[in-house]
Amino acid sequence: MLDRPRGQPDLSACGMVTAKAWVLKKHFEGFPKTSDFDLKKIELPKLKDGEVLLESVFLSVDPYMRPYSQRDMKEGDIMIGTQVARIIESKNPAFVVGAFVVANSGWRTHFVSNGKELHSLPSSWPESLPKSLALGTVGMPGLTAYFGLLEVCKMKPGETVLVNAAAGAVGSVVGQLAKIGGCKVVGSAGSDEKVAYLKKIGFDEAFNYKTVTSLKEALHKASPDGYDCFFDNVGGEFASVAIHQMKKYGRIAVCGAISQYNDSVPQKGPYVQFPMIFKELQMEGFIVHRWNNRREEGQKALLKWVLEGKIKYHEQITEGFENMPAAFIGMLKGENLGKAIVKV
Ligand code: NDP
Repeated sequence: MLDRPRGQPDLSACGMVTAKAWVLKKHFEGFPKTSDFDLKKIELPKLKDGEVLLESVFLSVDPYMRPYSQRDMKEGDIMIGTQVARIIESKNPAFVVGAFVVANSGWRTHFVSNGKELHSLPSSWPESLPKSLALGTVGMPGLTAYFGLLEVCKMKPGETVLVNAAAGAVGSVVGQLAKIGGCKVVGSAGSDEKVAYLKKIGFDEAFNYKTVTSLKEALHKASPDGYDCFFDNVGGEFASVAIHQMKKYGRIAVCGAISQYNDSVPQKGPYVQFPMIFKELQMEGFIVHRWNNRREEGQKALLKWVLEGKIKYHEQITEGFENMPAAFIGMLKGENLGKAIVKV
């Protein structure tokens, strides 16, 4: 049954479908391990009126799953997450069989929905564009870059923008949006290959934070006048050093703190107050869902720039649902260039 080809659900004699799902077997301690996950089979009920049956085609592995699992999940729960899924059976007139949607149904191959939480892909989505982009550049990570830069950093043409984890799903869009917005862009990433990629997609300066002898010097060399905007995906030591290189009245968008997600013991200071006061900085944390009511606007803009070639994308595709834990762990280790995706 587990080897059934994609697109052909296991319809047993009574019309049931068996889904595969990854469960959090044990809360992560430090860095997640494959033994923290369990693969389960779940029999789905027959569809009732108003419901649809979906099959996941692409699933997303994201950094937020690490801290959110700790905060929101209990052992035995299905891992949280989003997917691009295809409707394979419908008793809901709003959804036709064969249509693709973005769902938030966790790490599972098949699921039943009443349609309320399903998001259709924008109607202007061309056949030529991978639908997996709805989980990356034209999905939640792209929207994070868009609203974080426009609404939190409030970037203006001519300013200098710094972004870390710059070759990842969010960071790569941040840098390119800042270029579209007429800014100078500096990015940091964890390998020379990633640095080369950043230069290829238009970053003005990029460096490998793992091999520079001094982060402070690397940041200073890349922009001797300092930074107006800092889009922080990493937190921890990087942010502590970067805050001192902000220009007066600089803005810091606190998007993520991936350098701290796997810490068993919370990191201690240095503390932000002195640079915040002396440079009169603004520092604001945010979660992309604040702008859910503007999702369509953001997606439309991102899709347009992708189609015009102004935003380039790269996806790190892992084949096979059974490899979801490995893809998740690999992403946390920095193995991904661009958005980490699992193709079922
Ligand atoms: P990425 O595609 O950037 O993948 C994660 C990357 O983080 C890795 O590739 C790795 O790149 C880098 N990384 C891992 N560990 C460390 C470390 N110790 N120090 C520095 N870098 C590290 O993920 P996303 O683009 O999806 O997410 C980026 C950040 O944005 C995360 O912090 C995430 O939680 C946050 N986020 C926040 C949202 C919000 O609404 N606030 C929404 C979406 C994401 P490298 O090789 O460069 O080290």
